[in-house]
Amino acid sequence: MNTIDGVIATLLDKWVRRLGLTEWEILVSIVDSKKMKKTAISEVKGCVEYELFSHKANIFLLDKLEEIEIEPVIVHELLHLCFADHDRFYVRIIDYVGDEAVQELLNKMRTDQVERLLHIISSSLLREKV
Ligand SMILES: [Zn+2]
Repeated sequence: MNTIDGVIATLLDKWVRRLGLTEWEILVSIVDSKKMKKTAISEVKGCVEYELFSHKANIFLLDKLEEIEIEPVIVHELLHLCFADHDRFYVRIIDYVGDEAVQELLNKMRTDQVERLLHIISSSLLREKV
């Protein structure tokens, strides 16, 4: 199983178990930057869409990724699922705020904080320098 699909399947299985995400149904697709831009807010190497109730997730990986970059991106996207509940809590608070400018500010703060946190966690899991 040395194809890219095989590499992805092996990494996905390993990290789903380690992160305790076995109840999730997770699909991984490789997409070009055009498709990625439609899904993600900015230019990224990967992104994830999920439904918390059904525990279904789609992870998108950029087709330009080097093989060595696949694992950190998969770990990062899976960590988003670990934080899915926490995220829902924030989304509810943000919805409750009437002012659109405040909503936007809170949303940006939430995204920045989560991304920074996930970077620290995934780097330490993969034993890289932060
Ligand atoms: Zn992220």
